[in-house]
Amino acid sequence: MTALGRRTSAAEMPKGALWLRWAVSAIALSVLCFLVVLHPPARPGYLLLFAAAMILADVFFMVRVAPGAYFSFSPAFLFVYFLIAGSTGAALLTAVAHLGAWGVQLARKRTLQSPSYALSDASQHVLAALAGGGLVFVALRISVLFRGLPRALVPATFTFAAGYFIAFAILASAAVWLRSGSQDVRRHLWPTTVLWTAISFLVSIPFALTMRIVAPAIGGFVLAAVFTFAVLAGISVILRLNAKLQSGNSDLKAINSIGTLITATLEPSEIFGIIARESRRVLLWDGFFIALGGGDESEIEMIFLSEQGEELARRRLPRGAGLTGRAIDSGEVVHYGQGEDEQEIEDDDTFRGRRRPKSLVIAPMRFGDDVMGAICVQSYKPDVYGVSQIQLLQTIAGQAAIAVRNAQLFQSEKQATSERDEFLSLVTHEIKNPLTSIKGYASLVEESALAGDQEALREGLSVIRGETAKILRLTEDLLDASKMSAGRFSVELDDVDLAMLVKQVAKKYSDTVGHAIDVELDGVLPSIKGDPVRLSQVVENLVSNAVKYSPDGGKITISLRSGGGRVHLRVKDEGQGIAPDKQPLLFQRFYRVEEGGQTVKGTGLGLFISREIIQMHGGTIHLESTLGEGSCFTVELPA
Ligand code: ADP
Repeated sequence: MTALGRRTSAAEMPKGALWLRWAVSAIALSVLCFLVVLHPPARPGYLLLFAAAMILADVFFMVRVAPGAYFSFSPAFLFVYFLIAGSTGAALLTAVAHLGAWGVQLARKRTLQSPSYALSDASQHVLAALAGGGLVFVALRISVLFRGLPRALVPATFTFAAGYFIAFAILASAAVWLRSGSQDVRRHLWPTTVLWTAISFLVSIPFALTMRIVAPAIGGFVLAAVFTFAVLAGISVILRLNAKLQSGNSDLKAINSIGTLITATLEPSEIFGIIARESRRVLLWDGFFIALGGGDESEIEMIFLSEQGEELARRRLPRGAGLTGRAIDSGEVVHYGQGEDEQEIEDDDTFRGRRRPKSLVIAPMRFGDDVMGAICVQSYKPDVYGVSQIQLLQTIAGQAAIAVRNAQLFQSEKQATSERDEFLSLVTHEIKNPLTSIKGYASLVEESALAGDQEALREGLSVIRGETAKILRLTEDLLDASKMSAGRFSVELDDVDLAMLVKQVAKKYSDTVGHAIDVELDGVLPSIKGDPVRLSQVVENLVSNAVKYSPDGGKITISLRSGGGRVHLRVKDEGQGIAPDKQPLLFQRFYRVEEGGQTVKGTGLGLFISREIIQMHGGTIHLESTLGEGSCFTVELPA
């Protein structure tokens, strides 16, 4: 078309060629925009590569094909305008958004993030670049036109800009609609684009003016454009760094305030409320829960909280279930929403009755090597949580772990104090009663001895013996329990004839109480290795409980059988029974069922000691009971 060195102005180019170049650049950029919004590139480097390829192609076009058309319709220039001017627009937007959010925060003490941040960084960048760059391009065109280019180019330029924006709006909307649904187009894309366009327009005016002023001074528009881009890129970088620093500062402030607030309370529900409320200032979430249950617990308890820190619901999950279970078991962060299939977010980890989230981060609450639970934030939008948000949640989870551990220590200390008080009053009570009785009978014995009343003397001494035995039994139990807690309890193994032992205990109780006691022996029992004194203590405890807690009488059955290499001993009564919610607590030290006007005396040590003895023999004990119908304790010992 032209010989090398001859300059061709845009006006000299055939009209069809001009339109072709406009159309090609508009289509290329629109398709690029569509692809980038649909699949945000992992690295900005890909965008730069694309830009470099376009520039090379354009330089070739300019130099070899149409020198002089440089300013008119260069796709590379379009791209660079769009990219750099758009970055400036985005940086300014960030600054403005922060300023705005700062004002809003001051006014309402609310979150620092605007909802438009929900779109991924890459999509934001491209949207900003396209919206901003388009207008800068228009401004640049106008400034070029002022240099005396044909007036006919003015309407052509505006036609191009308008056409470009319509194409862009349709394609970007389609891309966002495909990715996250029509709601996001209406709620986020359009308002965001309008905002960016307005800001970019403001940016484009000083840009065009600078071009006008600088161009004559530094010898032409090419150098002026490079210079202006360089200045704008510099400003853009500074603004971005500043915005980053500011958001880092606000993160630090939030972490600091969470730390200060949660260490000021030892009430777990308050701690959880504070974490939910304060985290909302720096993390965008639609759903939030704290899961408790690390260590050797078999269940996870999830506490769902609102933005205000109020408890919404509680759920229990078996240990290891769902993504929460995975985070707690592995001690690692679980993150979904960056390209993964959102279907994988299981119902286990969501609050029933709400939409399934599209992004989610679960950070384990670690205290040293222990995982005590996890914190989870969820959003209905995809790609909400980036590296910095994940790190932020990890830091918050670390603080939460310390606060929860402190609260747990405080609670267990409180419980220990109340147990100690309870224990003291119980022991005093248990010792005082027999001592009072001993004291009374001692005077009676004295009087009977003086009066020579042999019958009364014998009776008095027998009561004193009985009461002394009670105190002795209590002190022995206390000693055993304390040895067990300190790990100093031991058994002396010997051959034990369990059938004989059971018969002796049954006889002892049949002679002294009014209950019918049946012993059922099933076949010949193998002898077992065990401590006869301690095993007899277990059987006695079970039988005496069966008697004590069957105040209305009823049959007590002790049965013995062997099978599967074990000996099975069952003590069954027809007494008051035990409510299901109390059954798991029964073998705890000092635990007694105090409900329903319990009048039978006891220390709550018998079953605790029995279970310890059985476990030292490699055996197990378990209970079946129905309230009001009776209980059955089954002991299994290795034969
Ligand atoms: P104590 O009998 O001294 O209170 P234990 O440890 O032997 O202590 O028993 C703990 C509690 O378990 C008792 O207080 C009682 O409420 C309940 N319990 C034990 N055995 C029976 C039983 N056979 N029937 C009903 N309740 C029982």
